[in-house]
Amino acid sequence: MRKEKELLFEMGAPGRRGALLPACDVLARPLGDLLPEKAQRGLSLELPELSEGEVIRHYTALSARNHGVDSGFYPLGSCTMKYNPKVNEEAAALPGFAYLHPCQDDSTVQGALELLYRAEAYLNEITGMDRVTFQPVAGAHGELTGLMLILAYHRSRGENRNKVLIPDSAHGTNPASAAMAGCSVVQIPSDARGLVDLEALKKALDEDTAALMLTNPNTLGLFEEEIAAIAAAVHGAGGLLYYDGANLNAIMGYTRPGDMGFDVVHLNLHKTFATPHGGGGPGSGPVGVKERLVPFLPLPLVEKRGADFYLDYDRPQSIGKVHGFHGNFGVVVKAYTYMAMMGAAGLKQAAADAVLNANYLMERLKKSYLLTHDRLCKHEFVLSAAWQKKNGVSAADIAKALLDYGFHPPTVYFPLIVEEALMVEPTETESKTTLDRFATAMEEIARLAGEDPAQVTGAPHTTPVGRLDEVRASRQPRVRWTPAAK
Ligand SMILES: *Cc1c(COP(=O)(O)O)cnc(C)c1O
Repeated sequence: MRKEKELLFEMGAPGRRGALLPACDVLARPLGDLLPEKAQRGLSLELPELSEGEVIRHYTALSARNHGVDSGFYPLGSCTMKYNPKVNEEAAALPGFAYLHPCQDDSTVQGALELLYRAEAYLNEITGMDRVTFQPVAGAHGELTGLMLILAYHRSRGENRNKVLIPDSAHGTNPASAAMAGCSVVQIPSDARGLVDLEALKKALDEDTAALMLTNPNTLGLFEEEIAAIAAAVHGAGGLLYYDGANLNAIMGYTRPGDMGFDVVHLNLHKTFATPHGGGGPGSGPVGVKERLVPFLPLPLVEKRGADFYLDYDRPQSIGKVHGFHGNFGVVVKAYTYMAMMGAAGLKQAAADAVLNANYLMERLKKSYLLTHDRLCKHEFVLSAAWQKKNGVSAADIAKALLDYGFHPPTVYFPLIVEEALMVEPTETESKTTLDRFATAMEEIARLAGEDPAQVTGAPHTTPVGRLDEVRASRQPRVRWTPAAK
């Protein structure tokens, strides 16, 4: 039997303390003098009473029950769980950044404005765009912002285009963002190579097409080889091109969305640019645009006059604000630190290593797992557990089994176009030793799936809790502790 960790409320004893305070030397006044009776608490707080040591041990034990990039390999496809250098945290914690107030006068925050200005210049260079806004605070938020910019552009030209074309290999946030922006979504099929079916795309284009949203490399980890023809077709029909650049790991320093013909791109600083994510944030999904969309960018932009930086609110065609102030500024500080530290050559090397690591793992694992699209991959690849499924072992079982080997599982059941998908993204920050250990574990699980499937379907065997009832957890969440009746 595995034992659930006790809660703080179930520990300690009455009167136990973490600190010794001197006796109170302030004259006590009746509470009624200070607070009207109806505002006074009727029941005692029932806080747990614990020593400092108990509290520290409790939280240290809890922290060790989670898996993070700082504790082990985390090959979660489409998430770029690379190691985040700790120097980024130090930069973001500098008092000159951490203790600013967003309403301070421009003249008192010149350093912060310069950082935003420089970070924008880096991202313009990396993406091939003309301007970037840092206001969106997640990838999906960037998508929504980008689509709002595209719609504002079409409206400014008197065009009411409303249709967004999205390949079936796209990240689920793409159609969701398009629907949220009020657009209708048309799905474009992939062909046998796993790439956009150009003929199907051409057929779907018409005078109502606002944009094509594309991820390149796509979620199979494959580079869209006909990207120039795709861009020409969409522009030819009067539509714009939106690039989902959440994972820029594969192309950084080699090619740029702007050069491929895209008009808008969002990036996830919390993926490619080494700032932590998971658990819901904070993230940063800056959006870059080509010249013709610049007038519509959210307010304000950082501008430079002489040697001074200032915030420009004088932007009459702007779509307004999509978030308070400048988005998640701390995340931008971390990403800027990362980019400055890596330099252009370092970022390019990171992309090369990310692609090399993915291809190395793919070549080794395609002997044990079905590889439906056997082409040179970019930063990630998608295996199928179809062979194992014949023995009753699913992608989810394989994911659970990996936990017993100390690895975070890959992304499963995405993209939807691969049956029993296992999407692996090793990132550039892993050594060959780690990749080999992971591959050996995957091979071992494939062998067990053939010889002793119950071992795999019963996994995990070593974690604090086993298989959770995921449906019940989301339908009937128990998020509040209730004391046992006295
Ligand atoms: C992660 C991801 C997103 C969404 O980013 P969030 O910050 O989670 O909103 C969008 N597209 C792709 C391809 C992604 O990998």
